[in-house]
Amino acid sequence: MSALKFFSRVSGLLRGKIRLGEPMSLHTSWKIGGPAEVFAEPRGIDDLVLLMKYARRYGLPLTVIGAGTNILVSDGGISGIVVKVGGGLADLKLDGSLVTAGGGVRLARLASAARDAGLGKFEFLAGIPGTVGGAVVMNAGANGSSVGDLVAGVTCVDSAGDIIRLDRGRLNWGYRSSGLQGSDLIVVEAVFEGIPRERELIARDMEKYLNSRNSSQPLEYPNSGSIFKNPPGGFAGKLIQEAGCRGMRIGGAQVSEKHANFIVNLGGAKSGEVLELISAVRDRVLEKYGISLEMEVKVLGRH
Ligand SMILES: Cc1cc2nc3c(=O)[nH]c(=O)nc-3n(C[C@H](O)[C@H](O)[C@H](O)COP(=O)(O)OP(=O)(O)OC[C@H]3O[C@@H](n4cnc5c(N)ncnc54)[C@H](O)[C@@H]3O)c2cc1C
Repeated sequence: MSALKFFSRVSGLLRGKIRLGEPMSLHTSWKIGGPAEVFAEPRGIDDLVLLMKYARRYGLPLTVIGAGTNILVSDGGISGIVVKVGGGLADLKLDGSLVTAGGGVRLARLASAARDAGLGKFEFLAGIPGTVGGAVVMNAGANGSSVGDLVAGVTCVDSAGDIIRLDRGRLNWGYRSSGLQGSDLIVVEAVFEGIPRERELIARDMEKYLNSRNSSQPLEYPNSGSIFKNPPGGFAGKLIQEAGCRGMRIGGAQVSEKHANFIVNLGGAKSGEVLELISAVRDRVLEKYGISLEMEVKVLGRH
């Protein structure tokens, strides 16, 4: 009831889009997920602040997503408000060695802009399909680098709708984690610092990373990247493969034949099937190696 009241109150005030019962499968790279009770795409920080203030006023939970490339949304959907930080918060500016990017800027665009400006350190982002906001929160990384190495500071909005600026030292970076995980802060902008490098060298590295992803990842099927974090000193994919899980299937969900740390949606996979497969894989690895794999993918919604 309060979600409906929220919707009718806010829809007349918001510049961005707002919808009831939006299927989350349209907003996740896995193409899985039931409806969001209310789904909104703010156009600008003022819109986001408005959504947060009214969500608080109506006592509704608020869930934020970016490009949906690291989330598993339940088949039952998400209660309350889902806010997608995307094209409405996607300004990008270059100034010397600094790049300022909105939370909704895609990493591919950020990496290309840095390359065109002759700024190195962003190369590893080539082929990671998320947004700036998602990548900062997840401390996304590859090839020995991660987003935390690049960030000079971030701007967030808190649940009261206040703007908070944090410099890199306050973000508590870890392996695929940052101090922003589990907080009520939404990343609306980040400032990155690169170093001058020849454009041709940057382009060469980016192409090398993209080619390696194309040959090793099952990009022909909807997926959500690596399911599990690598355990200390090892590789989750190798353990899963050696535990005999490659190709294991439940309904439309399958442990990829190409990369065992990926679960692919062969068509019509349900979130429940993916979760069952995840726990079957985890049990087998635990039984064989005594290692309990930790999930990298975030699970959202009513399970
Ligand atoms: C094919 C493929 C390859 C991948 N390769 C890599 C890789 O090499 N390295 C790697 O680290 N990841 C990889 N990923 C995972 C994913 O792309 C990254 O984690 C990415 O940073 C997630 O960004 P997103 O915008 O999609 O976030 P989402 O999946 O939408 O959200 C992820 C988490 O961040 C939160 N969040 C999102 N946006 C914001 C925001 N603006 N403010 C606050 N919280 C927010 C969400 O609530 C959620 O908890 C891969 C995924 C795929 C599908």
